[in-house]
Amino acid sequence: MGAKSGVANAKEKSEGKVLRAVKRALGVLKDAVYPENVTCDLCGKELTADTRYNLCAACTEKMPSVRGHVCLNCGVPINDEADFCLRCQRTESVYKLNRSPLVYEGGAKGLIYALKFGGKKYIAKLLGAMMADAYLNSDMDAEIAVFVPMSDAEKKKRGFNQAELLAREVGERLGLPVLPALVKVKETSPQKELTGKERADNLKGCFSVAYADWIAGRRILLVDDVFTTGATANECARTLLKAKVRQVSVLTAAVTVQKLATE
Ligand SMILES: [Zn+2]
Ligand SMILES: [Zn+2]
Repeated sequence: MGAKSGVANAKEKSEGKVLRAVKRALGVLKDAVYPENVTCDLCGKELTADTRYNLCAACTEKMPSVRGHVCLNCGVPINDEADFCLRCQRTESVYKLNRSPLVYEGGAKGLIYALKFGGKKYIAKLLGAMMADAYLNSDMDAEIAVFVPMSDAEKKKRGFNQAELLAREVGERLGLPVLPALVKVKETSPQKELTGKERADNLKGCFSVAYADWIAGRRILLVDDVFTTGATANECARTLLKAKVRQVSVLTAAVTVQKLATE
C-alpha cells in the first residue's frame, strides 16, 4: 500500500513538473505572439485589457462589422428579407460565395488604407484574425488558400501584396496551405476608376494559373482585401475553374455596400 502510493506520488510529481514546464512554454509563446504594451492598430492607444483583436474597446465598438442578415452571395448586410443584394441580383458569379468580417466604411477603410498605402503590414494580422473568424462562422470548407496576385510591376511599386499577407495570416489560423496558384500576367488599369462592366472587361485574361497539379480537384479559398463589384473574384475564380479546381469560395477583409450611382 505504502509502496503503491509512493509510486503514485512520484507519478503525480513528474506530471506536475511536465505541466509546469508546458505552462512556462505557453507563457513564453503567449508573450511572443501577444507582446505586452501593445497598442490599438487603429488609434494607437495602449491596450490595457486582453482583447480578441488588436483593437481598443472604442475602436472595436466603431468597427463596421458584418452582422445580421447578409446577401447569400457576397455577404454584404441587407436590410430587407431578400436573399441577394442588388449587386448580386444583377451579376452572375462563378465563385460559390464571398464572406467578409467588415463592411468597407469608417474604421475598416482606415485599417485597409493604412495596410496598403501606409505600409503598416502588421495590420494584416488583425484583419487576418477577423477573416479567419468570418470563415469559421460561414459554411465554407476549403483545402488550399490562394491570394489575388499583383503583377510584378505592381508588387515592385508597393513592395508587398496585401492579399498575400492576409492569405498567410488566414492560412496559419485555419491550418490551410497557401499557394501562389494565380499569377497576374497582364497589366490592368486601376479598377477604382472603372464601373462594374468596365472592371470585368479590364480584367479579362489577366490571370494565369501556377501549380496546376496541386489545385486540380481541390476546394480553393480565394483571399483578397476588398470585395467591390466582384469582378476580380469572378475573373480569378474563372481562371481557377478552367484549371479544373472543384470550387472557389472568396474571403475578403471588407465588402463594399453597393453605390447605385456608379454601377
Ligand atoms: Zn483604438
Ligand atoms: Zn450580394
